[in-house]
Amino acid sequence: MATGLLKGLGVTFQEMFRPKVTTKYPDEPYVFPNRLRGIQKLYVEKCIVCHQCANICPTQCITIKEKPKTDPAQKKKELAVFDINFEICILCDLCTEVCPTEAIVMTSNVELAETSRADLHKDLPWLEANNTNVREVNKP
Ligand code: SF4
Ligand code: SF4
Repeated sequence: MATGLLKGLGVTFQEMFRPKVTTKYPDEPYVFPNRLRGIQKLYVEKCIVCHQCANICPTQCITIKEKPKTDPAQKKKELAVFDINFEICILCDLCTEVCPTEAIVMTSNVELAETSRADLHKDLPWLEANNTNVREVNKP
C-alpha cells in the first residue's frame, strides 16, 4: 500500500517538471493543424453555380439557388442563395474536393457552438465572411 502511494507520488513529482501538454482553451485560442477539416469559407466571385458541391454532399446540407438572368446575353451564372446546414454537415471535405474553381474551401475553424439549432444554418454572407483560419494553400 505504502509502496504504491510512493510510486504514485513519484510519478506526480516527475510530471511537475515536464512541459505541459494541456492548453487554456477557450480562454487562449487553440491553433489547429492547417489541414484540419473545419467550417467552410465561400469565395462567391469564384463560384460558377455548377451545383457539384451540392450534388456530391452525402447529407444534402447545401442549398444553392441561381439569380435569374436579367440580360439574355449574360453567360455567367450568379449565386442568389448558398446555404449550409451545419446541423447535418459532417465536414467530410467532399464539397471542397469536387469544386472546380476552389470557390468553397475548408478552414481550420471548428467553433460553431450555438444555443439555437436555427443558428446552425449558415447563409451566403456568413460563409463569405468566414475568414477564420482559412488554409494557407486556399488563400487567394
Ligand atoms: S463537408 Fe461534406 S457534409 Fe458538409 S457540406 Fe461539404 S460535402 Fe456536405
Ligand atoms: S462546386 Fe464550387 S463552383 Fe460549383 S456551385 Fe459549388 S461552390 Fe460553386
